[in-house]
Amino acid sequence: MIERVDFVVIGAGIAGASLAYELSKTASVVLVEREHQPGYHSTGRSAAVFTEIYGNAAIRALTVASGSFFANPPAGFSEHPLSTPRPLIMVACSDQRAELQALYDEAVLLVPTLRMLDAAEVLQRAPMLRADYVDGGLLEETSSDLDVHAIHSGFLRGARSRKTRVVQNAEVVGLARSRGGDWTVETSAGSIGAGAVVNAAGAWADEIAGLAGARPIGLLPKRRSAFIFSFDPPQPVEAWPTVIDISEKFYFKPDAGRLLGSPADETPSAPCDAQPEEIDIAIAIDRISQAADFTVRSVDRKWAGLRSFVSDKTPVVGYDDEVEGFFWLAAQGGYGIQTSPALARAAAALITGASMPENIASLGVGSATLSPVRLRSGRA
Ligand SMILES: Cc1cc2nc3c(=O)[nH]c(=O)nc-3n(C[C@H](O)[C@H](O)[C@H](O)COP(=O)(O)OP(=O)(O)OC[C@H]3O[C@@H](n4cnc5c(N)ncnc54)[C@H](O)[C@@H]3O)c2cc1C
Repeated sequence: MIERVDFVVIGAGIAGASLAYELSKTASVVLVEREHQPGYHSTGRSAAVFTEIYGNAAIRALTVASGSFFANPPAGFSEHPLSTPRPLIMVACSDQRAELQALYDEAVLLVPTLRMLDAAEVLQRAPMLRADYVDGGLLEETSSDLDVHAIHSGFLRGARSRKTRVVQNAEVVGLARSRGGDWTVETSAGSIGAGAVVNAAGAWADEIAGLAGARPIGLLPKRRSAFIFSFDPPQPVEAWPTVIDISEKFYFKPDAGRLLGSPADETPSAPCDAQPEEIDIAIAIDRISQAADFTVRSVDRKWAGLRSFVSDKTPVVGYDDEVEGFFWLAAQGGYGIQTSPALARAAAALITGASMPENIASLGVGSATLSPVRLRSGRA
């Protein structure tokens, strides 16, 4: 007799871990992960930024709906704060004025504290920028640094405390549904029976769909690179804001006394263990050097990860309409950490047939916004 649970969740990154945390409150769950370490792929490679003015309208709403979880997590969730305030400045040069205004007009509706800054105000807040580069900017005071490890391990610990089994080194290699409706999930570490299967496999979500006989959602993983660097002249950076170019050509932020930088690249990739390319790091150094008054001295560490999108750049959450008992939690793009509390609650509601939580629905995100069915015309 194989073990049988209500839900098998495939993929123990932030998506699978956060959903297992929510589902385990009322159901039996097994969380299966191919790697030896649950955060090995995208989740362990993020820039750990929380910003409510980033991404499309659905992303911004899901981020706003997640903020209170990070600021006030449930008792015992983590010994460490999940977020630490760090203002964020979107910086613009003179040919980016229209973009700056457009983002302000849209984002201020959800984030009323958002402020438009002139060049002098930007330089006062971000004195490392070059005066001849800056034309203006946006100031988001309520942005923060996230402790991704604390968030991810908090979700895993909470799920385990409610009897969820987390199985590492368990690659899902087969998915079969019996006439009775139960799934058999075949993994490299043995088989498990389940009432429903959750596809939280990150960049591999369309491959998992193939195993289940479901049509792909057209997921496009895109590689993004990041690096930690030292610079001259040395100066304390702890109080510096996160600085993002308004057209997202680069960003940098303090990271334990040094700076984390990125060219904000989006290079299409097959699902894989993404690695950084020298050229992308060189591009980032060039762009950051044009905007900032310091000189990059050394690249101390570099990495890359995949941000996976569908055509409308909104996450895909809901049951497949053709393959019964197959639930999608995919396409979190570059926002999967900051939206994880709200997305997990939305997913847990939709998977159990409950209505969308009020704090998410009231921000305009309904089940149709997230459903895989919206992508049907574009599906192969
Ligand atoms: C450089 C960079 C910066 C980023 N910055 C931010 C940021 O500042 N803020 C933010 O919110 N987001 C950011 N992101 C995005 C964020 O990291 C992702 O949206 C998020 O981690 C996606 O989580 P996931 O659980 O869907 O994917 P993953 O973490 O990749 O997890 C999917 C898991 O599924 C497993 N899996 C796949 N196939 C199988 C199988 N057959 N069997 C078993 N397991 C399987 C994989 O091994 C993997 O562990 C950034 C991403 C990158 C790359």
